[in-house]
Amino acid sequence: MAHSKLAIVLPSMTPGSAGRRIAVHRFGRAGARPKAYLQAAIHANELPGAMALHHLLPMLVQADRRGRIKGEVIVVPTVNPIGLSQLAGNNHLGRYDFLGRDNFNRNWIDLAGAVCERVEGRLGRSAGDNIAAIRAAALAALAAMKPMNELQTLRVEVLKLSIDADIALDLHCDNEALLHLFISRRDWPGAAGVLAADIGAQATLYNDPYPEHLTFSGVNSALWARLAQRFPAANIPQACLSATIEYRGQHDVSHALGEADANNLYRFLVRRGAIAGRAGELPRLKAEATPMAGMDAGYSPKPGILVYHAAKGAKVSKGMPVCEVIDPADARGPKARTQIVARTDGILFSRKLDGKLAWPGMVVFRIAGSKILAHRKGMTNLDD
Ligand SMILES: [Zn+2]
Repeated sequence: MAHSKLAIVLPSMTPGSAGRRIAVHRFGRAGARPKAYLQAAIHANELPGAMALHHLLPMLVQADRRGRIKGEVIVVPTVNPIGLSQLAGNNHLGRYDFLGRDNFNRNWIDLAGAVCERVEGRLGRSAGDNIAAIRAAALAALAAMKPMNELQTLRVEVLKLSIDADIALDLHCDNEALLHLFISRRDWPGAAGVLAADIGAQATLYNDPYPEHLTFSGVNSALWARLAQRFPAANIPQACLSATIEYRGQHDVSHALGEADANNLYRFLVRRGAIAGRAGELPRLKAEATPMAGMDAGYSPKPGILVYHAAKGAKVSKGMPVCEVIDPADARGPKARTQIVARTDGILFSRKLDGKLAWPGMVVFRIAGSKILAHRKGMTNLDD
C-alpha cells in the first residue's frame, strides 16, 4: 500500500530560472512484478494521452487504498516540462527541443552496448536470471551516466523509471487519426495483441524487430531484441512490452474518451496482473498488425493548400487520390491541384487536417497495408 508522488527536478538552464519538474506517481511496492510504466506527452503538444492518465490516476489511487495494486505501476502524466513551456506567438509547440532542435521522441539512449559489456559471459539458460542480470546492468549503466543539460537529464531519469519495466507505454497522438499502436514484431500477437485488443487499437504497426531511430518505446523494446541478437545461445525473452500508443488526433480530447481509454488501460493492467481483479473476456481485436514496411506514407510534392478526399479510417486502394495540394497562385482551376495517391491497399489511419499549409516533403497521410512496399523497405522513419 503505497501511493507516492515525487518530482524529478531538472537542472536550470538559464540564470534566474528554477529547474523544471516532472511529476511522477508510484503505486505498489518497488520491485513488485509486473511493473508497468506509463507516460504521456513527450511530444508536449499531444495531450489526449494525458487526458487518459488524468482519468486513470484516481482509479489507481482507489485501487491502492483497497490494496489491489499487486505489481508496481508508475505514471508520469506529462513527462516533458521542457516542451510544455514552449509557448511562442500564442502557440504551444512542444515537439522539438529549441536548444538542439532534436525531436523529443528521437535519440533516446540505446543502452544495448553498455549492457552487453556488463553481462558478457554471465548469461545462460535461465530466462529469469538473464532478465534480472540485464535489468540490473541497464540500471547500473544509467546510474553511471552524468547528463549535462536538462534534456539529457530528463532522458536518463525517465529511463531509470522504465528500463526495468515489464510494460512500458508511451502515449502520443497524431493530427487526425484512428487509435493506433506501434510495437515490435517480437511482441505480436502475444503481449501486444492483448494490449491492442484491450485498448481497441484500430491499426497496429510493427517494427521488425525494432525501429532504427531511437524513440522512447523503441529503446525500451530494442534492448531485449539487441541482447538476444548479440547472445544467441542465451535464453533472452522479450521481457518488456514497450509500445507507442497514438490516442487519435490532437483534438480528440473529451471526458468520454479519456474515461473510456482509462478504463481500457486499467483492464489491461488487471489482465497483466499488475492490479488484482477480473479483466473479463478479451475484447475482439479490431485490426491485425501490419508491417512498418507495408505502411505507405504520402508526401506533399510541392507547397500549397491541403484538401482531402478520404476521411480518417477510410479503406483506400492503390492509385486512389487521398488528398490534393492546391497552388493558390495558379489560375487554371483544377489544373492547379496536384493529387497525392495511395500506393497500397489499406486503412487510412493518419492524415492532417483540411486547409493546412503543405510544403515539399511533408508527410500528408499514412496507410496501414499488409503488403511489403518496395519504396518503404528499410524505411521505418516516421514523424510520430
Ligand atoms: Zn508524438
